[in-house]
Amino acid sequence: MVKSSVLGYPRIGANREWKKTLEAFWSGKLIESEFHSQLQEIRLNHLRKQREKGIDFIAVNDFSYYDHMLDTAAMFGIIPKRFSYQGGAVPLSVYYGMARGTKDSAACEMTKWFNTNYHYIVPELDGVSPALTENKPLSAYREAKEKLGIEGKPVIVGPLTFLKLSKGYSVSETDSWLDRLLPLYVEILRELEREGVQWVQIDEPILVTKLSEADVQRLKLIYGTFAASAPNLNIMLQTYFESAERYSDIVGLPVKGIGLDFVHGFSGNMSSIKELGFPADKVLGVGVIDGRGIWKAPLREKLALLQSLAKLVPVERLVVQSSCSLLHVPVTVQHETTLKSELKEALAFADEKLEELVLLTKALAKDGGGIISELEQYDRAGQALNLSADRNREDVQHAVAAISTQHPERNSPFSERHKAQQEKWRLPIFPTTTIGSFPQTAEVRRARQLWRKGEWSDERYTSFIREQIDLWIKLQEEIGLDVLVHGEFERTDMVEFFGEKLAGFAFTQNGWVQSYGSRCVKPPIIFGDVAFKGPMTVEETKYAQSQTERPVKGMLTGPITIMNWSFVRDDIDREHIAYQLAYALRQEVEAMEQAGIHMIQVDEPAVREGLPLKEEEQSKYLKWAVKAFRAATCTVQDTTQIHTHMCYCEFHDMIDSIEEMDADVISIETSRSHGELIHSFELNTYSKGIGLGVYDIHSPRVPQVEEMTSMIERALRVLDPKLFWINPDCGLKTRGFDETVSSLRNMVEATKIVRAKYVQHSLN
Ligand code: GLN
Ligand code: ZN
Repeated sequence: MVKSSVLGYPRIGANREWKKTLEAFWSGKLIESEFHSQLQEIRLNHLRKQREKGIDFIAVNDFSYYDHMLDTAAMFGIIPKRFSYQGGAVPLSVYYGMARGTKDSAACEMTKWFNTNYHYIVPELDGVSPALTENKPLSAYREAKEKLGIEGKPVIVGPLTFLKLSKGYSVSETDSWLDRLLPLYVEILRELEREGVQWVQIDEPILVTKLSEADVQRLKLIYGTFAASAPNLNIMLQTYFESAERYSDIVGLPVKGIGLDFVHGFSGNMSSIKELGFPADKVLGVGVIDGRGIWKAPLREKLALLQSLAKLVPVERLVVQSSCSLLHVPVTVQHETTLKSELKEALAFADEKLEELVLLTKALAKDGGGIISELEQYDRAGQALNLSADRNREDVQHAVAAISTQHPERNSPFSERHKAQQEKWRLPIFPTTTIGSFPQTAEVRRARQLWRKGEWSDERYTSFIREQIDLWIKLQEEIGLDVLVHGEFERTDMVEFFGEKLAGFAFTQNGWVQSYGSRCVKPPIIFGDVAFKGPMTVEETKYAQSQTERPVKGMLTGPITIMNWSFVRDDIDREHIAYQLAYALRQEVEAMEQAGIHMIQVDEPAVREGLPLKEEEQSKYLKWAVKAFRAATCTVQDTTQIHTHMCYCEFHDMIDSIEEMDADVISIETSRSHGELIHSFELNTYSKGIGLGVYDIHSPRVPQVEEMTSMIERALRVLDPKLFWINPDCGLKTRGFDETVSSLRNMVEATKIVRAKYVQHSLN
């Protein structure tokens, strides 16, 4: 009989009760025993819900007190020395110390989980001796069985993925680390087998990335060992986020089931199966329901896909699955009350996806019999949205068609623009500026709340924002910055702000997803054609400019960042969504220029996040991402200076694309990477204006003048002084007032010192 399966369920709860419980515990408002029991209640509720909906294979051990990679590290006793862990069960103080840092020890690094917006804690292997501290999957299995009578499917991060995502060892030590970890995994699996567990899901998303021959050997060793050690345990080797690499090797491993992603890895996995077949002795986990998107699945089409697979694999050996854990989507659409019905009807979050899985499984089992009309009925909502006016704006589609066939270009090449701009602006050498936002103090946030609640009139709020702008324009002048900003006080979030002013966007009340730890984000939904409705940022910027003689730089969020930080429609491709955004933003850029704002920064901090996992896809993506940026910024005059900003440092592999964006000035983070980036400029030249962040804005520390002068001097050894700008790493909105002012004063001071030396030097 065909079965349904879920790879993992969101932890946060329909009302973010998980987040609230964690934060209450951290702030000392909950005692530990109470904390454990509240989390257990949340966990059991999630299991109950999945059972009620009728899911056959319910994941256990997908729940976490923070993050599943951190859990795995803690389970193996992989705890950095600085947390003075003594062995045995890992106390919560150590566990959360690793996640969030302690008074004395820095937190472990956090990084993005593949190409999602979820961040995991990076295990640090150096100097530790791994030992099993607790069999977590077993405890989770027992709990589900004892409390609810649910025969759960324990989930574990597989050894290859775990190792590859860890740090603190060299490549040549990989195998010796594997040798140390394998016995621990074996112990876990043996205990599960002894307990009578039927299926265990071992997550190896690393299998969708490039695998070396050595990795394939490692896989054979790992899964061969597992099969020999726990022969009665059924292992579902689970991949997701893309199609599996080295398909033949993977399906040849001695496991009972292989789980593949048929949403994000559809074409690759499909052609592998068609060309190379699927082993007769294995179960195929078919990830047909998108664990990352928020739209209802076209069930009729999904059924057809399953039926075509059933021609290659006997239907009783298919499992109908979510493409990945549902961790990446919000919990339920049910409580949304403000969305247009056309849109709401077309959405499916985690709970609605459970229903889809069950419906599809039923339909497949009956070979469609009797259920087809139910599926057709289900699919109407998606079709209705596709036909809606929101998705069929001819004006937008016309303009976007033009962009996709053009090569958007400024009127003149950079060298000419640069000359014209220098003449126009007459800035000192090493101009100083900031990245856009100034501290969002409690006062600013409170004002916005009062205004949103209707307690403050528009006039009152506007004049409050103007006062903030006034204050900071004066301060910036007094500090001695050369290019000023208005401070972004009117914005909560750099994407939401624009989404609220553009057509094609919608906002949920409760569509939260976990970003890292207890931090959740509520991404906007791009559901229709994106269109410019009217100027979005001109008023505040113009006002700021009217208060000073110095240039004020306008601030926009770029098309790729808006797209990557939103949930997007899936009836057209991302490339075209990016062009729609670009076209809308171009109108804002033009409106700014007309209003006399002739320095405009278009932030693109999220370009790298959208990089596909498969190398072959990366250059395609970068090409259209660059094109979208250019389309948004290319229509201005030569003298109008386009800036951009990116806040990460690992972009040595995309420097060419950044150059291609053709911005007149780029500012990027450097200080946290301790100048690694500077090194990459020794290898690659950069020929346009560039500002390397000279201090880390993520810390409240006020940087000293000498630190910054040495950072600047180091950069000047590899970059052209005539093109060099001086700025902090990123926006300052999370910083306090006093530290910001002091830091900027020191930055200007450092600039003066370097300028003086430079002038001296050029005179000699
Ligand atoms: N202009 C934005 C700010 O200063 C940029 C933020 C970002 O790069 N994430 O806040
Ligand atoms: Zn930034």
